[in-house]
Amino acid sequence: MSRFLNDRLQKIESYTPGEQPQDKKYIKLNTNESPYPPSEGVIKAITEAEIKDLRLYCDPECKKLKNALAECYNTEPKNIFLSNGSDDILNFSFMAYGQSGAAFPDITYGFYSVFAELYGIETEIIPLKEDFTIDIGRFCGQNKLVVIANPNAPTGIELSLDEIEKIVISNPDSIVLIDEAYVDFGGTSCAELTKKYKNLLCVGTFSKSRSMAGARLGFAIASKEIIADLEKIKYSTNPYNINRLTQVAGVKAIEENDYYMDNCKKICDTREYTVKELEALGFEVLPSKANFVFAKRDKISGEKLYLKLKENGVLVRHFTAERIKDFNRITIGSREEMEMFIKTVKEILGEKI
Ligand SMILES: *Cc1c(COP(=O)(O)O)cnc(C)c1O
Repeated sequence: MSRFLNDRLQKIESYTPGEQPQDKKYIKLNTNESPYPPSEGVIKAITEAEIKDLRLYCDPECKKLKNALAECYNTEPKNIFLSNGSDDILNFSFMAYGQSGAAFPDITYGFYSVFAELYGIETEIIPLKEDFTIDIGRFCGQNKLVVIANPNAPTGIELSLDEIEKIVISNPDSIVLIDEAYVDFGGTSCAELTKKYKNLLCVGTFSKSRSMAGARLGFAIASKEIIADLEKIKYSTNPYNINRLTQVAGVKAIEENDYYMDNCKKICDTREYTVKELEALGFEVLPSKANFVFAKRDKISGEKLYLKLKENGVLVRHFTAERIKDFNRITIGSREEMEMFIKTVKEILGEKI
């Protein structure tokens, strides 16, 4: 850090992404990527001609992609905002809507607290209940920016639309942001509710269910007024936020949405397999509606299991926060990867017991 950095930024504890090791080949179950490649059409869409066109700026309005998404989500282009990964929408939302403070759970996506700190926003951290579900009542009547991942991460536990609606209704003077990064793995989207509630901001991403984490494409669905706010920030920071290749790939991905939704189904099946196997090995597994499971087992610490797995070529995600340090978050990969994972866990436990 240089001595020129302003005092506030010096103090920020920035977000730590999951490991992306470049050294050896791991079975990578640590950052919730899809085990499946993008669809054929997406792969073919990145042509030599498109690459040559990289000399030109991209469409700042992303018209084609907005139209495609609007159709897919049964809404209008004016109700859609696009961003360089959904992290950018979270960033913009804390920047735009945090003036009365922000509320989110103690156990959730680690980026929320980073953005709050970045903008000097006072936060109310609301603990999850004993069973790791969200304490709905405590999110009602906050009248500050409410941010909830649904399904939540890293627990995978889902809130019902009724519960979300209750929170939205009880916070009429502030934005309720629902982060739906994992909604396609068995959850229910609140996108339709944005037509009814002008304070609801629904956020999605192509990173998990649409196999495009490396392309960086996020989207928001909300009232046209909220979308106009986000556009205002975009045009005040980076108008060309979605690069040409990502726009082309995104349009194709929506055209071939069935392929991705089929993959999600496969991942849900593999998740059920993984849960059954883990439970048979004595693990406690939280009920997940995401492409990962959060699991712990008596007599082996979360850290020990994480390290042993890594030694054996399997990467999972371990968090050090006190309440969850005994758990690991395990991304659901392909069936073959999960069979290898289970086999490795068995070997580790055999070694231990
Ligand atoms: C992965 C993730 C995101 C961010 O995804 P992008 O790659 O930036 O689109 C947002 N929220 C949650 C809860 C996530 O797990």
